[in-house]
Amino acid sequence: MSTPAQRMVAEQLRPHGVTDERVLNAMASVPREEFLSPRMRRHAYEDRALAIDCGQTISQPLVVALMAQAASPNPDDIALEVGTGSGYAAAVTSRLCRRVITIEREPALAEHASETLRRLRFDNVEVAVGDGTLGWQAEAPYDVILVAAAASEVPQALLDQLRDGGRMVIPVAISVHEPQDLRVYVRQGSQVVYRSLFPVLFVPLRSG
Ligand code: SAH
Repeated sequence: MSTPAQRMVAEQLRPHGVTDERVLNAMASVPREEFLSPRMRRHAYEDRALAIDCGQTISQPLVVALMAQAASPNPDDIALEVGTGSGYAAAVTSRLCRRVITIEREPALAEHASETLRRLRFDNVEVAVGDGTLGWQAEAPYDVILVAAAASEVPQALLDQLRDGGRMVIPVAISVHEPQDLRVYVRQGSQVVYRSLFPVLFVPLRSG
């Protein structure tokens, strides 16, 4: 017997470019329904983004998995996530890295995500309330940074908080008329280089 999350891995993730076994295992082990409101739970394993509180969304599982894979996480890494939302992507990331700091600007979402993560014993995740465009200096530098909202300009603080060799995955809004460009930025000493992954649609990264 397979679980709904295992079927999601087999049907939605493996056939669509998710090949990293650690990422696939993490996706199979996190119960997505626990991060949704009761009325959204029956949709938990559908291949799409879903509404959460405060007009925000929990990303499509495939996008969460491809972002995690693109960040090349290692078990000893420390990760920063911007945009906690429901806490689902933070939970997945916590299975891939040693420690995860996740920042959310909406206090109600942060509090709810923090409760869910605590209840499910994702003990290596810390939720902070704040403006994620400033990063989280206290625990910088980061091996991995995942940004779950679209920026029209890549925040300099996030580039500054990326460790040498670190990877940041971020959707960049190029024009209001087009989908955003999901990118991986890699720090190489004082230089940062990026490559484009694929077009995506995320809620905007707000500042202040
Ligand atoms: N990763 C989430 C989905 C996030 S949706 C999940 O798995 O459920 C994007 C989130 O980014 C929203 O909750 C929004 O409130 C938050 N956000 C937008 N701008 C932000 C900012 N500057 N700092 C922190 N969070 C921000």
